[in-house]
Amino acid sequence: MNLHEYQAAEIFSRHGIRTNAGKIATTPDEAEAIARDLGGIVVVKAQVHTGGRGKAGGVKLARTPEAAREAAETILGMDIRGHIVRKVLVAPGVDIAREFYLGVTLDRARRQNVIMASAEGGVEIEEVARERPERIIRALVDPMLGVHPWQARQIGFELGLDPDKISGFAAIVQRLYDTYIAEDATLTEINPLVLTGAGEWLALDAKMTIDDNALFRHPDLEAMRDLDEENATELDARHSGISFVKLEGDIGCIVNGAGLAMATMDAVKLHGGEPANFLDVGGGASADQVAKAFGLVTADPNVRAILINIFGGITRGDIVAQGIAEALDRVNVQVPIVVRLSGTNAEEGRKLLAENGLAATTSMDEAAAQAVQAARAA
Ligand code: GDP
Ligand code: MN
Repeated sequence: MNLHEYQAAEIFSRHGIRTNAGKIATTPDEAEAIARDLGGIVVVKAQVHTGGRGKAGGVKLARTPEAAREAAETILGMDIRGHIVRKVLVAPGVDIAREFYLGVTLDRARRQNVIMASAEGGVEIEEVARERPERIIRALVDPMLGVHPWQARQIGFELGLDPDKISGFAAIVQRLYDTYIAEDATLTEINPLVLTGAGEWLALDAKMTIDDNALFRHPDLEAMRDLDEENATELDARHSGISFVKLEGDIGCIVNGAGLAMATMDAVKLHGGEPANFLDVGGGASADQVAKAFGLVTADPNVRAILINIFGGITRGDIVAQGIAEALDRVNVQVPIVVRLSGTNAEEGRKLLAENGLAATTSMDEAAAQAVQAARAA
């Protein structure tokens, strides 16, 4: 789950990182009032779950409360990479001397958390990684030992910081890592982390992604969820206990089990197709769950064929087939459906499906090939 900048900044500051605190406005009037309270130059920033707001015109400096109102007028309602701006952050304007990048995330290949830093802050890190990878400093963190004080200082020296700036920087590294661990984040990022004209460290932006599987331990973070920023279908799926991730292809997948769902997408790709989604119906596959899954998959207008892949382990094939048949009575599915059913009671299941006009195969490979063909023909 992603957080907004203002939410991430609040959490960073709870962990002792100095952030550029401001207030949230949802109307130009509110933005003007906040700017008046703050006094002086303010910055008005779009709050959306995407980066590159600066480039898109979603970050504006305003010298007067009236200018803050105008900036909010422009930014509210703006579409930034498909995200509609509903809130702006109004914060004190900052005199920036230098901009850095600092982030903590998981390096899956090395199976350790990694601290990343760069003297090229403000720019998107993906861009730096692509064009000047040598400008990014990486330090792996031993999960048992945490960040060594020397390690944090070392990063500071590699960034070319003046000696008197090292300990302040090292403290921020330590705290950003502590935040990452304590809040079960998969990313904590400050871009830019700035040295102000007065020589002080300040987090001028804040980004944080929380591990969904750990959210149950953080009700305070769960409460920060912004439903406006979430894919409506994925939201719908979560409420029914179905794991669903929308993708860009045209073959809708309905599968029991996360591993099999991954393998199904691989099989589709192997046969030259593109999955429209990842979908794991979860343990059982009752008519209710299958009907719900059909609903989720067919809500996507790109879907040209549906591939149902069920392996009966504890789940019985005949029950699943019953579920599919009942679901099809309830939901009007317009696209061709290909079924692979094997495992416990699969034979009974296939018979039941045949009676309902659906042929099923036992081979996943065959089913994937058929689904790709059906999508092409459609
Ligand atoms: P992003 O583009 O979505 O990452 O949004 P940021 O919060 O990082 O803002 C983009 C850029 O706007 C920063 O890199 C800064 O250069 C600039 N910026 C943001 N806040 C201020 C501010 O208070 N003063 C000044 N001078 N520039 C700012
Ligand atoms: Mn930024």
